[in-house]
Amino acid sequence: MKILKIQTLRGPNRWSIDRHKLVVIRLDLEDALVYREDVLELYDNICADVLPSLKDSALGRSVAEGENIVAAELVQHIALELQRLAGMPVEYSNHRPTVERNVFLVVLEYVHELAGRYAARAAVRLCQSMIEDGVYPDEELKQDLVDLTDLRLDAQLGPSTESIVAEARARNIPYIELGTRAMLQLGFGVHQKRIQATLSNRSSLLGVELACDKEGTKRILRDSGVPVPRGTVISSIKYLDDAIADVGGFPIVVKPLNGNHGRGISIDVRTYIAAEDAFDLAQEVSNEVIIERYHPGRDHRVLVVNSKLVAVSERVPAHVIGDGKATIAELIEITNQDSRRGEGHDNVLTKIELNSTSYDVLQRQGYDLDTIPKAGQTCYLRATANLSTGGIAVDRTDDIHPENVWLAQRVAQIVGLDIAGIDIVTSDITQPLRATDGVIVEVNAAPGFRMHTSPSIGIPRNVAEPVIDMLFANGAPARIPIISITGTNGKTTTTRLTAHIFKQTQQTVGYTTTDGIYVGDWLVEKGDTTGPYSAQVILRDPTVEVAVLETARGGILRSGLGFDGCDVGMVLNVQADHLGIGDIETVEDLADLKSVVAKAVVPSGYAVLNADDPLVSAMAKDLRAQVAYFSMDPENPIVKEHTEQGGLAAVYENGYLSILKGDWTLRIEQAVNVPITLGGRTPFMIQNALAASLAAFVQGVQIEVIRDALNSFVASAKQTPGRMNLFNLGRFHVLLDYAHNPAGYKAIADFINTWNGDRIGVIGAPGDRRDEDFVELGKLSAEMFDRILIKEDNDRRGRNEGEVAALFEQGIKETNPKFTYEVTLDEVEALNSALDRAADGSLIVIFPEKVERAIEIIESRQPPELRQSDE
Ligand code: ATP
Ligand code: ATP
Ligand code: MG
Ligand code: MG
Repeated sequence: MKILKIQTLRGPNRWSIDRHKLVVIRLDLEDALVYREDVLELYDNICADVLPSLKDSALGRSVAEGENIVAAELVQHIALELQRLAGMPVEYSNHRPTVERNVFLVVLEYVHELAGRYAARAAVRLCQSMIEDGVYPDEELKQDLVDLTDLRLDAQLGPSTESIVAEARARNIPYIELGTRAMLQLGFGVHQKRIQATLSNRSSLLGVELACDKEGTKRILRDSGVPVPRGTVISSIKYLDDAIADVGGFPIVVKPLNGNHGRGISIDVRTYIAAEDAFDLAQEVSNEVIIERYHPGRDHRVLVVNSKLVAVSERVPAHVIGDGKATIAELIEITNQDSRRGEGHDNVLTKIELNSTSYDVLQRQGYDLDTIPKAGQTCYLRATANLSTGGIAVDRTDDIHPENVWLAQRVAQIVGLDIAGIDIVTSDITQPLRATDGVIVEVNAAPGFRMHTSPSIGIPRNVAEPVIDMLFANGAPARIPIISITGTNGKTTTTRLTAHIFKQTQQTVGYTTTDGIYVGDWLVEKGDTTGPYSAQVILRDPTVEVAVLETARGGILRSGLGFDGCDVGMVLNVQADHLGIGDIETVEDLADLKSVVAKAVVPSGYAVLNADDPLVSAMAKDLRAQVAYFSMDPENPIVKEHTEQGGLAAVYENGYLSILKGDWTLRIEQAVNVPITLGGRTPFMIQNALAASLAAFVQGVQIEVIRDALNSFVASAKQTPGRMNLFNLGRFHVLLDYAHNPAGYKAIADFINTWNGDRIGVIGAPGDRRDEDFVELGKLSAEMFDRILIKEDNDRRGRNEGEVAALFEQGIKETNPKFTYEVTLDEVEALNSALDRAADGSLIVIFPEKVERAIEIIESRQPPELRQSDE
């Protein structure tokens, strides 16, 4: 077997609306394992020799119950199992056949993208090796698990960030990893907030800088009457003597001016020689060194968020407790076997590592590594209590004295930090500091949350909750309205129109189309921007208040939607286009794919569906959201039934675009007054306008505002290049439209039929469609035009010169063997030739490859006084 293609989904997709993180592989079984017995045998061998735990998986249960399993399932469950063994809990997987023999689509969940892709490949490698050689070497499996674990460690968020993200998730606040400086966006658009570990976008730069300057912090605190250790800063050993005298003699603490995680610190220094060593150690971290009075006592970290104390943790330095039998060295080893202890900050606790401090500390207690301490005897291995050096944390939130609470909250405000970690040394946290000679030794910006969320002893505290409460105060919104627009034809036009309507509400609208990404009236980026990447550009934009997103099939197929849910999901139509690409073979497949947009609408939102298109109206089943229909026919039975039950719809009735709300008809505007409908003569544009109006209406936009917007939106070459752009050239007219599939051609025919003069078509289509599609377009053209020029694209997308043109010819002849047509392969030449020969009163219709180039040619021939003004 082999993998033909591998894709990563990151949003709602055709396999699942809720499971966004999926790897999809196109798997060729290559005649291997088509028989059920072979699959079972392979399964048995894998369970016996490689992955015994597969027996306990969902697959194992299926086999045990005697269900039939296929080879694709084997791959999907092995890939899941490998991820689970590497510490990533995953459970969902699925598969389906394709039209190609023995080729399957296999999907499986991942926690971390690269690990998921790796697991998929490893699963296939494993099966293949078992099929070919009957073995999968032990080293290979071990290596797979090591690699997968490394990928997980690389990708996973730190524990503090993870706790904040978990809280956001629980409140349905979306987040985006910004991919730089471990920064994370919470919420979308104008409502977004940012965090970086436990710094927030509200953390004051001055506060953070002050906290990093330990001496400056102490100074400000001392001047406010807060108990801090007496201390001084020196940068040369010359001044050591004086400094020690200054702070009142031994014992002292020596530490770097801007250090953290306990690096370079010596505590309880009692001799001048030790002080010299301590000074050198501190200078390795920072040139300036603090000499400070030592306050004996226990070490506490107090967390203050938004001026409120939220947790207190007592930190106990790395230590072991004797059992009367084991040596200290052995006790360390036993302690490190605790599964909660990992490397660095990855786990709840960190492994104890020995260094020179450890030996000093042991020596001071009168021990060495071979000592066998008495049962219950505590032996310290560090002087400071940092978790990252093997310390443990004990929750003391309920024990702290109220005066200390008040003091800590005041300190956080004096330093100016929204999230502050305050280090307090006192012999008894249940007593006021002044009663115990306790002190505040420092204030930390970006304090770690691990000791509070996962204390070694005591109650875990959800300290992320107050952080989110602060960032989204009083239930402030985190989301902006998202309107997602899909369908085979009319997406760009409808997206632009919808954006135009919302612009009239004075909000900043971010929208994406096949032409580019826009914020307000400005182009952000040019290009075919209808996928999840472009959607995220809008959702990341801090100025955007409403997102209107053209959502094309390619993006949904390749990576899923670029958002977790939308407020309006609009499906305009489903027509044959792009069939046979990406395992989408039929219009039903296409409908299934596009229905993702409707299914992703949140329960409070609306799916806006075309009641005249059976494939679209059928999507109303299994939605979470409410439905609103649009239709060209006020008598449409689906609309009737829906409105009779109090539902919402938009219809074209008696020449009006109207909203139906239960029994009421709210008229928006007469179609003749809506410029994009070209005087009401273009039915598909009326449809698009109905859909856009309905989307705005369900979002609470006033009818008057919608009316003004419909009146002011012009299908000019500027506002909607390539969509029904009608140019008046004086003697005759030119219609430029980007139609490139049968439904698009038919839509244009509706307009052309109303034309009285000669109708000339300059026709072509992109080469990546099927042969029969071109023949069909040829047939349609022969029905709608009086004369035809066939041309081809410069980019023939894999076709030979003249190939597409010949298929068009075939279609034309099938409709009418006597039809007059010419073939001029070059588009520019064909267009010019049509323009040169245009008769008075005629209409030239061009379906161009390059819209801008065609517009330029047409406008160059247009008398200036006839050029359309925008707005
Ligand atoms: P972290 O980043 O973990 O907060 P740090 O490197 O910033 O550590 P400090 O917080 O200044 O260093 O000191 C580390 C620990 O050393 C304190 O939590 C406390 O236990 C101890 N300590 C520091 N100064 C004193 C002091 N003057 N008296 C007693 N103990 C002290
Ligand atoms: P693409 O898939 O190329 O992005 P799109 O869905 O964005 O296309 P538009 O660019 O808005 O569609 O329109 C393309 C062409 O489709 C139009 O020029 C018109 O000919 C036709 N069209 C527009 N709206 C409809 C509609 N509602 N029904 C059928 N055809 C339409
Ligand atoms: Mg500290
Ligand atoms: Mg488009």
